[in-house]
Amino acid sequence: MTKTVTERLKSVKETIPEGVKLIAVSKTKPNSDILEAYQEGQIYFGENKAQELERKAGELPGDIHWHFIGHLQTNKVKYIAPFVSMIEAVDSLKLLKEINKQAAKSERVIPCLLQFHIAEEDTKFGLDREEAQALLDSEPFKKMQNIRIAGVMGMATYTENSDQLRREFKFLKAVFDWLKQEYFSETPDFKEISMGMSGDYPVAIQEGATMVRVGSLIFGERNYN
Ligand SMILES: *Cc1c(COP(=O)(O)O)cnc(C)c1O
Repeated sequence: MTKTVTERLKSVKETIPEGVKLIAVSKTKPNSDILEAYQEGQIYFGENKAQELERKAGELPGDIHWHFIGHLQTNKVKYIAPFVSMIEAVDSLKLLKEINKQAAKSERVIPCLLQFHIAEEDTKFGLDREEAQALLDSEPFKKMQNIRIAGVMGMATYTENSDQLRREFKFLKAVFDWLKQEYFSETPDFKEISMGMSGDYPVAIQEGATMVRVGSLIFGERNYN
């Protein structure tokens, strides 16, 4: 028998300690699935396509907190800036500038996470330390009024090798600690470490995740057509 979204969500929630935020990754999934999770008390959802997110946000309850979790193209920022509650995967100054600009138009401050490249094998999007430093030291960044850097995000290698996963998560935690000390020691809002997905979130939590992004374990496998 296949389990319902409600049942799956309940069992995932049981494994997540207090203080770790669960982002239910609902990309490609229908509104009915999202509503089912919402009725079970889930209010944080993650999407990775700007127009899909814009559509869903318009159709679903207004108190849902939407996290944009994927690679975001600058020309798509405008679709989500009016309402998105966090943009998790900022990997360039150019993108951050556009987020700042669109947030200003909506008279908002948008919390953002800096995405780091942590996977040893896969090539995934993300900054390295030098790039982050260059971004944070830049004059345009210092002038931005409508974004707030709330922490870091990373995607580990798609592997079952838990030693490797642990190394990659430890690396992101170390990056967070370094940034906290060098740039954000006076910024209590800089506090999030978003790491861990369906296959690896328990290891991520052990290594200090404050947010996990879990999709298929809650909503079932995705069908990309
Ligand atoms: C799809 C996605 C997830 C969730 O993946 P699952 O393996 O289904 O849990 C998490 N983070 C990002 C950035 C994603 O794109």
